This record gives sequence, C-alpha cells and structure tokens, in this order.
Amino acid sequence: MTASYEGVGKLGFGAMRLPLTDPDDATAIDIEQVKAMVDEFIARGGTYVDTAFVYHNGCSEPALRQALVERYPREAFTLATKCLAWACASKEEAQACLLTSLERLGVDYIDFYLLHNVGGARTAKFDEYDMWNYVADAKERGLVRHIGFSIHDGADVLDELLTAHPNMDFVQLQVNYLDWDDPVTESARCMEVAAKHGVPVIVMEPVRGGRLANLPERGAAVLAEADPEASQASWAYRFCLDLPGVLTVLAGASNLEQMQDNMVTFQTHQPLTEAERAAIDGAIAALRSVDLVPCTNCGYCVKDCPEGVKIPVALNLLNLERQTEDRAFAKGLYSWQAAEGPASKCIQCGTCEAMCPQSIPIIDHLAEAVEHFEG
Ligand code: SF4
Ligand code: SF4
Repeated sequence: MTASYEGVGKLGFGAMRLPLTDPDDATAIDIEQVKAMVDEFIARGGTYVDTAFVYHNGCSEPALRQALVERYPREAFTLATKCLAWACASKEEAQACLLTSLERLGVDYIDFYLLHNVGGARTAKFDEYDMWNYVADAKERGLVRHIGFSIHDGADVLDELLTAHPNMDFVQLQVNYLDWDDPVTESARCMEVAAKHGVPVIVMEPVRGGRLANLPERGAAVLAEADPEASQASWAYRFCLDLPGVLTVLAGASNLEQMQDNMVTFQTHQPLTEAERAAIDGAIAALRSVDLVPCTNCGYCVKDCPEGVKIPVALNLLNLERQTEDRAFAKGLYSWQAAEGPASKCIQCGTCEAMCPQSIPIIDHLAEAVEHFEG
C-alpha cells in the first residue's frame, strides 16, 4: 500500500442509501451504478462494506451480492451486516436473520456481524432472544469472524453493555465533531469507554446523516474561510480518521460522484493541523450560536415522570434542529429515539420542572417538540 492510500483502509462503504432507479421505491436499487461504485471503491483500495438485514427493505444485501460478491474474490473485501432483533416477533425469527443474510449475500461467512441498534428498551429484546449467545456460537461455528453491536445511546449504557458482554470484538458508535461533546450522544466519552474495554470502534454517522456536508451558512462560512477548496464532508471525515482506536469510518454514498469524493478525501488525508482543528471548533461554535435549550442530560427530570416522557431526547433534538436548520432530519430521528416516550404523552404535572437544575421550562419545550416532530 502506497503512502497516498494511507487513509483508504479506514474507509467503509455504507450501503444504507444506495442509488435508486425510482426515488419513491427503496427497493428499486440502481444495480449498474452500485457496480460502478463498488468498482471505484475496490480499485482505489477500499475493502470494508457495511450493510444490514433491513437496509432498502431487505434489498441492500442482495444488491451487494450482485455488485460485489459475485464480481470479486472473497478475500478482496470485508463484509459487515446486522440483525435488528428488536423488530422481530420471536427468537426464531431474530436468530434466522444471520442465515438469511448469508444466503442473500451469497457468502459462507460474515466478517463483522452486529446486533443492530442496541440500547434503550431494545436491549431487552436482544436479551430475551438470547442473541448474545447466538452470535458467540455463530462465531464458534465459523459463520461469523467478529461479533459486535451498534449503539446510539450514551457512555454509561455502552459501559454497562461492554461489561456484561466482554466477548464483543468491536463496537459501532455514532462519532462526529458535532456530537463529540453532545450531552446525549457523548461521542468522546463513548470512545473512552470503548478504549477502556479494549474494543476497536467502527464510526457511524461521521457526517451526522449528511447534515455536516450541508451546513447552515454560519457554519459553512467558517470552514470555507479556513480552506475554500475543501468540501464540508471532508472536514467531518478527517475529524474521525485520526481518532485512536478507530477501525473504520463508514462513509455513505448515494451515487458514484459521492463515492469518488469520499475516495479522494481518504486517499489524500493528512492529520488535522492545529489551525484546522481551530476551524472545526469555530464551526461548532457558529452552529451553536443560536438559542439552544441548556439541557445537560443529567436525567433528574425523567426519574419521576409518570408518563415516561423522553425529555432529554426531545430537548436534544430541538437543539439539533436549531443547529442544523433541518426539521425533517430531526423529526426522522425523533420518530424512533422518542418512540418509547413521545412528548405528546406529557400531562403537564410539572414534576420534571421542579427537578431540573437548569430551571428549563420543560413543558413549553415539549409542546414545541410535539408541534415540530409529531405533526
Ligand atoms: S410535566 Fe410532563 S414530562 Fe414533566 S414529569 Fe409531568 S408528565 Fe412528565
Ligand atoms: S433535569 Fe433539566 S438539564 Fe437535566 S436532563 Fe432534564 S431537562 Fe435536561
């Protein structure tokens, strides 16, 4: 591998939003364009390809079989896929996911197999269906090379899970510069927890669902001033690339052009200079220069809420909406992150406000969350 290819080994091809021939049909994957994207990826030294049982309503895995597995030797790529056990009706259904994925992908083994989106009430389903032991057994049988899980929860939950399951080989975390010290996502603390447990990290959401590639003007201007040539996405990727303990950074690509952009960023990557780090800090400050809810995610408010409202989640997503100026994006996250306790369940009893050390008018903000995210 030449020096110019240094970053490529860390580039992961995320196959969650593949190009479509019909934009209204998630299953109508443009297989010819996916083949071209795969060719670009492999030709430039990429290896790690990430999919999931549920991506594109089950059609991402077969698309990768066509575009990748049937066209390249098995040793030329590393496959990751995931099981969303909490969406399964039974243990049998959840455990059947692995064999279905193997069949759909047309391979004898999966390199990286993940329990998909562990955390919150979803963890209980992985426990109930005995998925932790199931994947460990699958590894013993050679169906899987490495086992791990993806998680969007904060550091304490991650710590509990890695303590309870010390046989996990890796973990997939939401890491990006905007979430680095976010009180809910806690990217930095999560990285510390992973390091404490000695597990490498696969970074997901490095561009925060695309928001960091399409910044509001006040953030974009800071980065453009620092380097007029660099794309916004490249700043986000570079922030993640040199973090210690990172195995792979998943870079989503929805067309060949985005794949080419990603490859250039990874191939030409140099560690961020002090001035570049300052520029990212400046962009973060600019994005946060709007009126944000001062919630620290301390959790005091939720302890005695009679309705189990996900208060910090709702407030955090209101802040995300204000920072990114993208309500649809925040609303999409709210639909699953607050599903167990939507703001509309609030009966305005006031218990939470009495507990909040920040004196936040929680009830008013929950009404705003209902209006913005539940309409
Ligand atoms: S005011 Fe609403 S959110 Fe707060 S404790 Fe009461 S029900 Fe829960
Ligand atoms: S008590 Fe206040 S600061 Fe703490 S999580 Fe609740 S709203 Fe946020």
